[in-house]
Amino acid sequence: MTAVRMAAWQEPPQVTRIPVPEPGPGEVLIKVAGAGVCHSDLHVMEWPAGTLPYGLPFTLGHETSGWVHTLGPGTRTTGLNEGDAVLVYGPWGCGVCPSCARGAENYCRRAGELPAAGGGLGTDGGMAEYMIVPSPRLLVPLGDLDPRTAAPLTDAALTPYHAIKRSLHRLVPGSTAVVIGVGGLGHLAVQLLKALSAADVVAVDTAPDKLDLAAEAGADHLVPAGEGAAERIRRLTGGLGASLVLDCVGADATLKTAAGAAAVESDVTVVGLAGGTLPVRYGTLPWEASVTIPYWGTRPELAEVVALAGAGRIRPHVKTFPLGEAAEVYRLLRDGRIEGRAVLVPEG
Ligand code: NAD
Ligand code: ZN
Ligand code: ZN
Repeated sequence: MTAVRMAAWQEPPQVTRIPVPEPGPGEVLIKVAGAGVCHSDLHVMEWPAGTLPYGLPFTLGHETSGWVHTLGPGTRTTGLNEGDAVLVYGPWGCGVCPSCARGAENYCRRAGELPAAGGGLGTDGGMAEYMIVPSPRLLVPLGDLDPRTAAPLTDAALTPYHAIKRSLHRLVPGSTAVVIGVGGLGHLAVQLLKALSAADVVAVDTAPDKLDLAAEAGADHLVPAGEGAAERIRRLTGGLGASLVLDCVGADATLKTAAGAAAVESDVTVVGLAGGTLPVRYGTLPWEASVTIPYWGTRPELAEVVALAGAGRIRPHVKTFPLGEAAEVYRLLRDGRIEGRAVLVPEG
């Protein structure tokens, strides 16, 4: 089968042929419908050898949807049947520690002992025709949703969902939430904020076409990124600032905007991994602002995201490309030329 593989650090991915894998005991073989192209893959490809503990090669794709194809020998599940449309929950923990037991495998207490963070992050992922998932517990049924365009729900929606949910108590009527970076995650963050809260939503991006997408997603105000952005947001909020600033970039410049736009008693939530620095001391942030760096989301939250999508309350803006064009699609993403989320689909 065709697979998009990470074969060397700091090199573009390779499209190669590998055998269709056979599911072992307890495992599930998924026929892939789509695999989202996440900006995190660009970081993984850019970081030098030794940054991540993964062995090479492995198949990329940590945002995957598809159909249950075969249950491995002895795989027991009453919740899934062959042919069911599913999402693959991405962060694979040990499955038994207290965090995993409550579905928060993103914060597995044994993460340091595991060889990979999940499919597509150190072990074979979804940018292929088939993918092995180690346990049925890592699959979330999609119901009637079309798996061909649903893949972004499992990362581009789940990550901001988790980040927003913990701040919902602040997003009362009259409050403001800011989304910086309206790409794959950001355009869904805007939709999620509108679906879950009464807050006014401000979208910030460097690119005018990304601000157009934010408007389509329901943003109330559009602010071009740059020096004056925080000041504009302060003016829009009558001087108070925003109760939640979700930074989906995480660069020095966006963190500065985030701190400058935050209100007293707010959350500055950094999901972008661009590696910027935000000094936290008296004078750089308003009183009682909290800064946090959340990672992905929980399994129960992924079921909630699917319920929102099933009800038509959020809809990923997706453009599909054949698997074979992966290298070109990553180039487009790096150049800021993907609107919403690119999804790679196997041919045939
Ligand atoms: P993307 O490339 O689709 O979107 C990035 C957006 O940010 C684009 O619209 C771009 O125009 C905009 N942007 C870039 N620089 C900007 C600036 N200086 N000011 C304002 N806007 C700017 O990326 P994505 O797939 O949505 O991922 C976003 C970030 O989130 C990446 O760093 C990714 O690694 C990270 N991420 C983190 C988690 C997590 O669990 N913490 C999960 C998924 C992705
Ligand atoms: Zn991702
Ligand atoms: Zn665990």
